[in-house]
Amino acid sequence: MAKAGEHADIVVINTCTVTAKAGAQSRQAIRKLIRHHPKAKVVITGCYAQMAANELAETIDAPVCIVGNGNKHLLVETALRETPCDLTMLMGRILNKKDICNLPMRRFGDRTRAYIRVQDGCTNFCTYCIVPYTRGPSRSLSLAEILAQTARFENAGHKEIVVTGIHVGMYGKDLDEKLDITDLMQALCNAHPGIRFRLSSIEPQEITDKLLNAMKSCKNFMPHFHIPLQSGDDTILSRMHRGYDRETFRRVIKKCMNTFPDAAIGIDILVGFPGEGEKEFANSKNLLQEIDATYFHVFPYSKRPGTPAANFKNQVPKAVRQQRVTELRDLADEKKVAFYSRFLGTERPVLVEHKRTRANMLTGFTDNYIPVTFDGDDSLMGKVISVQLELIDNNTVQGRQVETGSC
Ligand code: SF4
Repeated sequence: MAKAGEHADIVVINTCTVTAKAGAQSRQAIRKLIRHHPKAKVVITGCYAQMAANELAETIDAPVCIVGNGNKHLLVETALRETPCDLTMLMGRILNKKDICNLPMRRFGDRTRAYIRVQDGCTNFCTYCIVPYTRGPSRSLSLAEILAQTARFENAGHKEIVVTGIHVGMYGKDLDEKLDITDLMQALCNAHPGIRFRLSSIEPQEITDKLLNAMKSCKNFMPHFHIPLQSGDDTILSRMHRGYDRETFRRVIKKCMNTFPDAAIGIDILVGFPGEGEKEFANSKNLLQEIDATYFHVFPYSKRPGTPAANFKNQVPKAVRQQRVTELRDLADEKKVAFYSRFLGTERPVLVEHKRTRANMLTGFTDNYIPVTFDGDDSLMGKVISVQLELIDNNTVQGRQVETGSC
């Protein structure tokens, strides 16, 4: 692999277009890399390439290969092919895609935690989101492929795996074998009892009793939910085409908390959607104040050309969006401290990462996703140990090792 300042033979650029800004950054990155590596073979892929292939082909004054999201399985072959790229475009029709590209990996870099993508695409068409146009309909990896990838990660030494996808609650709906995301999580937990599993993000209406029961019965299914709310106002939720209302969301969070009082609950919230006035914003804020959440990811709405919401009236001025983002991030900080405080003085199982902090402390996450630092030996790295949580220190909690052993 070429280091900074060295000449690369092959440059692969994975682009993004989730916001207009991300698209512009992708264009900049492409130009910069072509300038810095004039002799390299350049392969461009990802969502921006998928959406703007023709624009790229017209504006880039260099031979490049553009590989669409539906053809990522051809990426390595394309990059390694001896013949030079001459505006090769392997786009395909993403909206007709029926299968998911399986990209087997030996290990996930040098990280303790690995991510396994079990699903791609979405047909929910939320009015602010470009994903259904860039990723196509929901497609799932088969259980056999996921189990094989998990075994590879376990053999490579990973101790925790996050199960991800664009819309994981749709997992399995396109497969012949009858299974859903709960069946998958259960199968993974049973087949790999030495691995801690987390679910990346799941829509509120997809948190079923079946899923909660599975989480309860599988000791290695971590008590951690990441749930998109996006707005706490019913009118805005309906204009977003989210498919649930405020009351449903509140009920779901309550059920999660009743079943797992110690669970981490992360929430995504989108601020400044068109038509979000003071009243609508207040509805989001008071819902967030009321519910037991551990952390929020607060995103300012940004107009994405090609989505219905880009043409909605009553776009919210940038300064107002920014102000609301700040308000909710302040609230998020308060919630996080309140959550961490609840566990001071208690012991939690921590998976120790393969790295140290600047202060040379060991670091890791509890089962319920509290980042902790503590003194200890390198031999603890990659193990699950019991840590007593003692003191909140900025964004982490300082602790003390109690004993070693597996959890
Ligand atoms: S469910 Fe998620 S991925 Fe699908 S359209 Fe909505 S925001 Fe986009």
